[in-house]
Amino acid sequence: MPQVNGRFVPDMKSPRTPDNEEPAEERAHDFRPVDKGFTKEMALAEAERCMDCKKPLCVEGCPVNIKIPKFIEKIREQDFGAALDIIHEDSMLPAICGRVCPQENQCEGRCIRGKKSEPVAIGQLERFLGDQPELASKPQMKPANGKKVAVIGSGPSGITCAGELARNGFDVTVFEAFFTGGGVLVYGIPEFRLPKAVVKREIDGLKELGVKFEFNSVMGNLANADELLGEKGFDAIYVATGAGLPKFLNIPGENLPNVYFANEYLTRVNLMKANKFPEYDTPTKHAKQVVVFGGGNVAMDAVRTAKRLGAERAIIAYRRTEAEMPARRAELHHAKAEGVEVMPLVSPLEFIAGEDGNVCAVKVQKMELGEPDASGRRRPIPIEGAIEEIPCDVAISAIGTNANPFAKKIGGMDLNKWGYIVADENGRTSNPRIWAGGDIVTGAATVILAMGAGKTAAASITETLTAE
Ligand code: FAD
Ligand code: SF4
Repeated sequence: MPQVNGRFVPDMKSPRTPDNEEPAEERAHDFRPVDKGFTKEMALAEAERCMDCKKPLCVEGCPVNIKIPKFIEKIREQDFGAALDIIHEDSMLPAICGRVCPQENQCEGRCIRGKKSEPVAIGQLERFLGDQPELASKPQMKPANGKKVAVIGSGPSGITCAGELARNGFDVTVFEAFFTGGGVLVYGIPEFRLPKAVVKREIDGLKELGVKFEFNSVMGNLANADELLGEKGFDAIYVATGAGLPKFLNIPGENLPNVYFANEYLTRVNLMKANKFPEYDTPTKHAKQVVVFGGGNVAMDAVRTAKRLGAERAIIAYRRTEAEMPARRAELHHAKAEGVEVMPLVSPLEFIAGEDGNVCAVKVQKMELGEPDASGRRRPIPIEGAIEEIPCDVAISAIGTNANPFAKKIGGMDLNKWGYIVADENGRTSNPRIWAGGDIVTGAATVILAMGAGKTAAASITETLTAE
């Protein structure tokens, strides 16, 4: 066994501790979590693989620079509380990020062990700790400073900003359009990837810190920025409304019954419990043949949800090939193991109605790959005359989203031509009283980036308001 920093570590080829997954053929029929997470023994074994590198590239790969080798060292010492405290210095949502971060492109993608064999399972270790929040030290609360901040949106960006501000002594109110908190974490990402209870725990933790939540409150309709900063008496606003407006395919038949946007389909099931209709009020079609257009995480979540609602044939139809799909590799792997079919190099042309008026098929154009485009990926080019029909009783479009249009209605700050809020690296907008962050600034991105933006903005708000 090689020795590193005076400690024996498994050799470079030692295999990574395998994920603790439910069998694919069983889990594909219900919404149970796919991955059960590491046990203590698994976490200790995996922690031994970390070499505590002098120049830990994993830290550079993490968008919020969590001190990864330091927290792993504390796991090895079985001081899990101290390990969690180290993560909390940079990330307040380890149970969430450990589950959904694209680690393969971030920390794990840079791990030195990955060069010779497999990287350390950093995400799993983070989740192992995040799932034991009771071990962390109680957060230090600064005394109340009498200043009020409104946070608009309770996705990862809004709740992180709210938590930081509450700890810094601010009186914080989160305004959320939905009847519950969490944003995409609850309405978009399904239970089998991120249990609702994990998100609820974070929201409950904020309530314990004194953060107030006003649900069913669509800001821009209920009050705009001027009113919040005027008659409502807030000293600052953090806008984190996300980028949930679906992009249209703009093809015939897009308005047919049972043609959905992925966010609507997922919201029906995740939030409105359409899978339990008629016990719950919202219905959705339990289709036998489902085609989902797109190749990202949203498309994977939609197709795997359709499978769990009983689809015999659930297809991911993508205009490039599997190699270019932006979805996390793990999600693609899980989807295929659950029986999802991947249909590469097709692009939708038209949704076709059956005799009952509902969608019954989709006409697709077959594609081939040409030269790389600006994104570096090979451009899909239509093959002349190669058109096919795929039968389906539900079709779902997951080709991306646009800025939430309520940013304009909230008003008081500059937007760019696509409707995203213009903000600097500290989240400051053109209005000295308004900060913004997350997807409504960057466009659809990731949980960790949204969380990081909330943390940075909270620091900037604290600095500005306490200096007054
Ligand atoms: P959001 O999470 O969108 O939250 C915005 C909140 O603002 C919502 O609750 C919304 O209801 C509320 N709101 C909007 N307008 C108003 C208003 N006018 N008044 C009051 N409230 C308002 N990222 C990953 O890192 N890993 C993944 O695996 C992953 N999977 C994804 C799967 C799906 C299906 C989707 C849709 C996204 C996924 N993402 C993933 C992306 C990630 O979830 C987002 O980047 C992240 O949630 C953005 O956070 P946010 O706080 O900016 O916005
Ligand atoms: Fe440990 Fe990998 Fe980071 Fe090195 S790069 S410190 S082995 S997690």
